[in-house]
Amino acid sequence: SLQGKTAVITGSNSGIGLGVARELARAGADVVLNSFTDREEDHKLAADLGAEFGVKARYIQADLSSGEQARALIEQAGRCDILVNNAGIQHVAPIEEFPVETWDRIIAIMLTSAFHTTAVALPMMRKAGWGRVVNIASAHGLTASPYKSAYVSAKHGVVGFTKVTALETAKEDITANAICPGYVKTPLVEAQIPDTAKEYNMTEEQVIEQVILARQPSKQFATTEQVGGTAVFLCSDAAAQITGTTISVDGGWTAL
Ligand code: NAD
Repeated sequence: SLQGKTAVITGSNSGIGLGVARELARAGADVVLNSFTDREEDHKLAADLGAEFGVKARYIQADLSSGEQARALIEQAGRCDILVNNAGIQHVAPIEEFPVETWDRIIAIMLTSAFHTTAVALPMMRKAGWGRVVNIASAHGLTASPYKSAYVSAKHGVVGFTKVTALETAKEDITANAICPGYVKTPLVEAQIPDTAKEYNMTEEQVIEQVILARQPSKQFATTEQVGGTAVFLCSDAAAQITGTTISVDGGWTAL
């Protein structure tokens, strides 16, 4: 059980982050949810999750494109036994047309924010004598696709940063690993379907089967529960010697 542990999950009012928060809460952890918005429904989401699983749950607003806000998120949490760096965005364009500010934003939200949150969380983990860093990378942290230069670069960066975090904590009861999901049906992926349909002149159903899941041999989306369950496993005693590596949850994508 993760009772008595506090987990901070970045970008967790939706999709995979919320799924990971739910599974950590189900396993008994107190959770801190986060996104850049500060709406009543964000705070209600945390309250409902806490009530459902009988754990403490809070929502803390922080825009992770800002290093200062990323650091403030962990400071405000006050305790961080489990850090899940998950916040992410996508943009699809050829390199020569890729907007510079979008490149900078993707690298900031997905890679640099993990550096900032980890820098503040590690001393807290050392003080507690236990810690788990779980970075949500992607199959695109291990392989590439055209037109996703910033995303693929950020995710490869996350995998590298995970390895360094593991080496710097290797002698302590702290591990750092990256989960590499294939396609999971979340708002981030759903948003790509209409554009891709236009680009390839296909129906949205054809896009799902022939484009999105083309590289996922299982021909099924992974689920947020499965990614969450993998995070819970990485926090378990069985995973205490698993550090500095990646676990793919990708229906066989990276075996191709
Ligand atoms: P999503 O859009 O549902 O969730 C993204 C989360 O990040 C949201 O909570 C959003 O509010 C938050 N976020 C975005 N910008 C932020 C900012 N500036 N500051 C704070 N929070 C911010 O997408 P998702 O599919 O659940 O993606 C979550 C993570 O999983 C991302 O890192 C993504 O790259 C990764 N991933 C997704 C898939 C997939 O198929 N969905 C596959 C592999 C990896």
